[in-house]
Amino acid sequence: MKFVVATGNEGKLKEFRHILKDIAEVVSAKELDIVDFPPEDGDTYEANALIKAHFVSQQIKLPAIADDSGLEVDALGGEPGIYSARYGNKNSDLERREFMLEQLLNSPPPRKARFCSSIAFTLPDKQAFTFFATTEGEITLEAKGDSGFGYDPIFLSDDLGITFAEATQDQKKSVSHRGRALEKFLAWLKSTEAKQAFKDNNLQ
Ligand code: IMP
Repeated sequence: MKFVVATGNEGKLKEFRHILKDIAEVVSAKELDIVDFPPEDGDTYEANALIKAHFVSQQIKLPAIADDSGLEVDALGGEPGIYSARYGNKNSDLERREFMLEQLLNSPPPRKARFCSSIAFTLPDKQAFTFFATTEGEITLEAKGDSGFGYDPIFLSDDLGITFAEATQDQKKSVSHRGRALEKFLAWLKSTEAKQAFKDNNLQ
C-alpha cells in the first residue's frame, strides 16, 4: 500500500514515517514535486486536513493522508489553535515559541494546554475519512529538549512528565495527538468500511 503524506512540514513527515513504517510505503508530497498547497482557509482542523489530503489525492490519484493540528492554551482563550503555524505572524518555530511565552509571562502555572490533531485520509474517488485526537499538558516558561518540532520544547506532557522535545520518538508517539489520531486510523484500516473504500478505488 502506498500513501502520500500531504504536508510540507518536515517534523510532521518524520512522525508519519515513523508511525506508518510497518503498514505502508510513505511518500511525501515534496518527493512528488507537490509543494504549492492551497490556502488552509477552513475554520476547523478537520476542514483544513481535508483540503490538504484531497488536493494531493486528486492530483496524483493515490490515497493521501494529512494532519491539521494545533496547540490550544487555556490562558490564551484557546489560541493559537488552528492558527498555530502562523501564530503572531512569526516566521520560525523559535519565534512563535518566544511570542507565546511573552503572552504567558503573567499567567501563573499550571498553564493548561492541549495539542489537537485531525487526520484526513482521502482516496482518488473523493471518499474521505477523518480521525481526531488530543493530548493534554501545560506550557512551561523554560524550554527543554531538542527533539521534535514546533511547540514541543515548551509543552510539558501530562502523560510523560517531560516536554515533547525531551521525549523519544516512541514516547511522543504513544501519547501525542498525532500518534493517537493515527492509532484510530490504523484501527479503521482493518474495518470492512476501509476494505470497501480500497476496493472502490481498485486498490488493495
Ligand atoms: P498545520 O497543521 O500545518 O496548520 O500546523 C500546525 C502547527 O501546530 C505546527 O506548525 C506547529 O507549530 C504546531 N504543532 C502541531 N503539532 C505539533 C507537535 O506535535 N509538536 C509541536 N508543535 C506542533
